[in-house]
Amino acid sequence: MFTCSMTETTDIRILFVPNEPKAGVLFNSALDGITHTLEIVDDVKQGLFLHHEHPFDIIFVDYRPDQANGVDTTKMFLEDGPDCRLFILTPPGTKTSITSQLPASVESFDISGDASASRRLLPGLIRLTKDLIASDRYAKILENKINELETVHQQAEMLADIGIWEWDEVDDKMLWCSEQHARIHGVSHDEYMASVTSVEADTEWVHPDDREYYLSETMRAYHDAEELDLEYRVLKRDGKTVYVREVSKPIIDDTGTVVRTIGTFQDITSLKLTEIEMRRAHNSLEAKVLERTAQLEKARDAAEAANQTKSQFLSTINHELRTPLTSIKGCLGLLNGLVSDEFSDTGRELLDMARRNADSLHVLINDLLDYEKNALGKLDIVLSPHNIIKLLQNVIEDSHGYAETFSVSFVLLGNTSPLWVELNEIRFGQVMLNLLSNAAKFSPPGTTVDISVFEKNNTVKVSVRDHGIGISTEHQNRVFEHFIQLDSSDSRHQGGTGLGLAITKSLVEKMHGTISVESKPAAGSTFTVSFPRIADDKISSEP
Ligand code: ADP
Repeated sequence: MFTCSMTETTDIRILFVPNEPKAGVLFNSALDGITHTLEIVDDVKQGLFLHHEHPFDIIFVDYRPDQANGVDTTKMFLEDGPDCRLFILTPPGTKTSITSQLPASVESFDISGDASASRRLLPGLIRLTKDLIASDRYAKILENKINELETVHQQAEMLADIGIWEWDEVDDKMLWCSEQHARIHGVSHDEYMASVTSVEADTEWVHPDDREYYLSETMRAYHDAEELDLEYRVLKRDGKTVYVREVSKPIIDDTGTVVRTIGTFQDITSLKLTEIEMRRAHNSLEAKVLERTAQLEKARDAAEAANQTKSQFLSTINHELRTPLTSIKGCLGLLNGLVSDEFSDTGRELLDMARRNADSLHVLINDLLDYEKNALGKLDIVLSPHNIIKLLQNVIEDSHGYAETFSVSFVLLGNTSPLWVELNEIRFGQVMLNLLSNAAKFSPPGTTVDISVFEKNNTVKVSVRDHGIGISTEHQNRVFEHFIQLDSSDSRHQGGTGLGLAITKSLVEKMHGTISVESKPAAGSTFTVSFPRIADDKISSEP
């Protein structure tokens, strides 16, 4: 075996199977100047073995027409390395006798044994083959790259659910489309392509309700040679509907004619369904808001009407009830003062009862009117400096009779030296009367209601403490609300409107004071009102 390797980088492997040893020498000398690796084997078997181990790029078989197995040998090489080029070298003039027995890819040259012909032909043949092999390799690399790109492209199309298509405007048919484009229609690529042979056939894929719109828009874009961005529904082969978005662009030739249109095609069903769902939710929300607004307006109208009625009712109370009641109270007072001696015991009792009831009615009506005034912001109070001790003494004296009714006594404790506060005398009296009458109402007979006054940090505090049924902690927070009566059972049922403490609180606050309660059930309650004290040096003289 003969191995010859050129010093340069060898990039082509050549096998020569000579017919006789001197043919190898001749062959080798003909390859002078070519970068190559050459194996010259002694027999065919050895050549086959080497080719099997490491395939050659070119195999030259030196062949004699009189050798019976020559053709079979060549075929064996072909089978073992299908990518390699096989050349047969025959003696001059014998070429045609074997070409018919071999595949067309195997070329033969009748230069065997002809040194000058070999030198003329072989270098060129090998260079050409080298180039062919290189370009084959390059083509293979390109093909692989193209395949890779194609795969990436297809995956991208599938991921984005986007198909691509091109319409032939001249022949009015689909020129080509991507696999994904056909898949969105629910058919294979071949089926789809077979179905789009005209605009009419293409429109068959569009949902019947969208066809008119689809046709008019695509025609307009074609005539105006404009880009188009369209959403419509497609009927898939299985009858299901999908929403698609189609974006297209015309391709115009040198004469200004639209020859083709290319476009993308995207399945936007899930996006569209979410949009529809959101629109539905929005509409139903809007309907609910409208309905609720109407209800609120109705409720507001009803409340306004009720308010109107209430105002009319209160003004009726004022004119029709308070005025005669004042006169009744006056008459009862006169009757009591002037002619009570002439009554029998029963008559006097009846007179007392009438006076008590008239008094309660008077308080109730005044409470209602105050409540209304306060609600309307019309409860105006004029304040001036007062010695609170003196005002308290007056109130206690005036309500002496009331305390007796419940067999309790009001006792003023603590400090009696003047303490000056900005107050409204009448309203302060009303506040105290309410606290005292509550204390009396809810106290057991024979107990005292202690009223104490003290001053701390320039704040004057007046507390009214009873030893009555008390108020639970939970209810203490609510006693100052309007129309609150804590218990309607007999033990508490002492009359009243549930307005007294609410009005009291408003009045105290209007006089820049605060009110609070401390109580324990069955251990009595203490209501405390606090006002800012006026320093003595600011008071010129007691009024
Ligand atoms: P009313 O005019 O009905 O007495 P008030 O607003 O003055 O209304 O009082 C509200 C409720 O607070 C009363 O119905 C009563 O249940 C409770 N309450 C007020 N003061 C006392 C008190 N000193 N002891 C126990 N409960 C009281």
